[in-house]
Amino acid sequence: MAYVINNDCISCGTCIGECPAGAISEGDDIYVIDPDICTDCGTCADVCPSEAIHPA
Ligand code: SF4
Ligand code: SF4
Repeated sequence: MAYVINNDCISCGTCIGECPAGAISEGDDIYVIDPDICTDCGTCADVCPSEAIHPA
């Protein structure tokens, strides 16, 4: 399992610096989480202003 960023992402960039695993990167339209790296800590979901990040 991993957290997933949906289309509510406004590409603010807040989450990328908060991920302790370095699993978040900037995609073409929205930010994306690499499911192979995400450790399901939930930190990114807590800081996202758009509530765009949820457990898959
Ligand atoms: S849940 Fe944790 S490890 Fe996974 S992307 Fe969010 S901050 Fe990174
Ligand atoms: S914090 Fe939320 S809105 Fe901002 S880049 Fe990350 S997923 Fe997108």
